[in-house]
Amino acid sequence: GWEAFGDGGRFRGGRAARGGGVEFDGTGFSDFFEQFFGRQGTGGFQFDAEEMSERGRDVEADIAVTLEEALKGSVRSVSMRRPVECNQCKGSGSAGRRPCPTCGGSGHIMRSETHQVKIPAGVTEGLRLRVSGKGEAGTGGGRPGDLLLTLRLAGHPDFRVQDTDLFYDLDLAPWEAVLGANVRVPTLEGEVNIKIPPGTQAGARLRVRGRGLGKEGARGDLFVITRIQVPTQVGESDRALWERLAQNSRFKPREG
Ligand SMILES: [Zn+2]
Repeated sequence: GWEAFGDGGRFRGGRAARGGGVEFDGTGFSDFFEQFFGRQGTGGFQFDAEEMSERGRDVEADIAVTLEEALKGSVRSVSMRRPVECNQCKGSGSAGRRPCPTCGGSGHIMRSETHQVKIPAGVTEGLRLRVSGKGEAGTGGGRPGDLLLTLRLAGHPDFRVQDTDLFYDLDLAPWEAVLGANVRVPTLEGEVNIKIPPGTQAGARLRVRGRGLGKEGARGDLFVITRIQVPTQVGESDRALWERLAQNSRFKPREG
């Protein structure tokens, strides 16, 4: 549904670690490395002439992008922190008979890397971006794995999203709905004027063509959904106007 991503503009959590160890920052899901762990995908074997080498595993994560980024594209810094073999002990974890002082005996140290990830213009929810060679290191001369990022659209204060269409709730005064009006509504590229036809009901869908998200060179639409607001308190002069309308109007909402 439309509200699926309306988490105050920010995704929570992400998925649990599998295989563990790789941490991310800059994906929009975490403020700190410690709060989000990437997923590790599968690697694969490949045969060299002499010995078997192993390609590094792919590393997967979700990346949250704003609707503006999804429409226009952007470049994002994504930081990864992952365990690599300790240079001091070559991964053995020991220095003579004692634990290696560099890695504390674990055989690995954490290394941080920042990658500039290009978000192309005109993307939508669920698209997978492959950053070649930025996954886990291979062994035995094998190629490194890839970094696979799955695009998630962040919630937006103004718009709900359904595929490439956007939905915006527009509040109208009763007389605007009755008489018609020209009003300004926001889009991802600034405001546009739309015409409210006379006699517009609450819940009407007004289409603004081509103002949705992009996908494969085409654009979705923006749907403006009308809501009619009534004043909860009226001053003396307004009350007099409403009372005059009530006494003189021929409108019968519950007849015919
Ligand atoms: Zn070590």
